[in-house]
Amino acid sequence: MYARPLARLSDRTAAAAAEVLALAIPVECICCGAEDSALCGACARQVRLLTLRPFRAEAQAPALMDTDGSVLLPVVAAGAYRAELAQCLLSFKSHGQARLAGELARGLARALHAAAGPAEGLVLVPVPTSGAAFRKRGFSPVHLLLRRLVRGDEITGFTVADALRKTARPAPGPGTPELSPRVVMNGLRRAGGQKGLGRGARSRRVRGTMRARAGPWSPAVLGRTCIIVDDVLTTGATVAEAARALRAAGALVGGAVVLAATRPPATADGDASGPAVAGATGVK
Ligand SMILES: [Zn+2]
Repeated sequence: MYARPLARLSDRTAAAAAEVLALAIPVECICCGAEDSALCGACARQVRLLTLRPFRAEAQAPALMDTDGSVLLPVVAAGAYRAELAQCLLSFKSHGQARLAGELARGLARALHAAAGPAEGLVLVPVPTSGAAFRKRGFSPVHLLLRRLVRGDEITGFTVADALRKTARPAPGPGTPELSPRVVMNGLRRAGGQKGLGRGARSRRVRGTMRARAGPWSPAVLGRTCIIVDDVLTTGATVAEAARALRAAGALVGGAVVLAATRPPATADGDASGPAVAGATGVK
C-alpha cells in the first residue's frame, strides 16, 4: 500500500534533482562564455598558468607583518587573485562546480607542496566558514577542495584536521597571543586613508571569532605543526585569527596557504619555498 506514494515521491525527487543539476552545471564557460563545460579548455589552461608558481604573499597583508618588516605569519598563495583564477574561485564559491574544483584543487596542491618543502607530518587546518555562509552555499569551498585532494591522493605527507570552529562572539582567552596595536597601525599606514581604516576595523572585528574544537572526537593539534588553509588572502586578519586560535590550543603554526592573494608580490623574489613556512626550523 506504500508502493505508489513512494514511487511518486521518488519520481518527484528525480525530477527535482534533474532541475538542480541543470541549474548547477552551466553549459557555458564561467570565464569566457564559450559553450563547453563550466570551464573551457583554454580558460582551464589559464587557471593552471596563474597557479603555476606559488609565491609568498604575507607582505601585502598588513595583519601579518610587524612594524619592523618582520613576518608574523608566512603565507604561500597559489596565485594572484585576478583574471580567470578570481573568476573561477568566485563561481566555485557560489555554485561548487566539480570542473572548477578540480582545477582549483590542483593549484592548491602545488601551493601546499611549495609551502611544506621537505617537511612531513604537517596538519592542514581549513579556516572555518561562518554558519551563515555554510547555510547559504550548503558547502565550505576550502573543506571541499581539501577533501578532494585527500580522496584523490594528490597531497601526501599531510593530515587534514577540521580543528577550528567559529565562536558565537569574540572572546579571546587570557594570555593568548594577539596582534599588537602597532601591528594594526602599521597596517593602517601601509594601506593609508579610508581603506586602511577598514582594514584595522576588520582586524578588530575578526579577533576572537575562532576557537580550536574541544572534546574527545576533536582532532588533536597540541604540539603539532599546522598550516592554515584559506581561499583568498586580503588583509590577513582571518588567517591571523586562525593562527591565534591554534596557538592558544598548543599548536605550532608554520604558516598559511591560500588559493589566491589579492595582489601579486611587489617584488620578483617572492619565492614560495622559503624555509619559514612550515619548515621545522622556521616555526616560531
Ligand atoms: Zn573559457
